[in-house]
Amino acid sequence: MRPILDIPYSPGAYRPIDLTGLTDAGCREALAGYWDMPGVRVAYGGYMERRGLYDGFSHFQPAPGQERNIHLGLDLWAPAGTPVLVPEAATVHSWGHRKAPGDYGPVILLRHESAQGPLYTLYGHLSPESLKGLVPGKVLPQGALLATLGQESVNGGYAPHLHFQLIRDPGDYRGDYPGVCSLQEVDFYRENCPDPLPFLGW
Ligand SMILES: [Zn+2]
Repeated sequence: MRPILDIPYSPGAYRPIDLTGLTDAGCREALAGYWDMPGVRVAYGGYMERRGLYDGFSHFQPAPGQERNIHLGLDLWAPAGTPVLVPEAATVHSWGHRKAPGDYGPVILLRHESAQGPLYTLYGHLSPESLKGLVPGKVLPQGALLATLGQESVNGGYAPHLHFQLIRDPGDYRGDYPGVCSLQEVDFYRENCPDPLPFLGW
């Protein structure tokens, strides 16, 4: 099992959540129900989930019929300020501050080496402080403090959460990569962005 948040994993503390089709208001209502449950500290899920969460943001509507609403990462909903840990030994690939409404806000990409070739991980909706002191190629051991979760005012406008995504090949992207895609693009992105849960070993 690999670390990802500085909240010890247990099935009681981490609960799966299904946000399929929900708007922003619906997501917040669903999350509030989780925070009322005894012992629950993280609500997680969302890989390949088709969402209504992005309907209000022009960022996700390139043209009618091409709405980007299929979620390519794993979301871990937890309080702002929660520390994010490096899940596997890595080097810093790139980072950015994506300020458009609905975008990532502060975001970091790491590179991991494996026998199958490089694999990249993306961490979105971070605090601005998370970007201080980053150096391209900096070596980060497993479990090192990477970042903290951002407030809604800096994270693109969402309830605080980590967007965690695997990427086999980020191409020319630096400090960014699509976190949602349209139905027309899903075959490509499912291949290039595998399910993060097996990677975490949950
Ligand atoms: Zn997400």
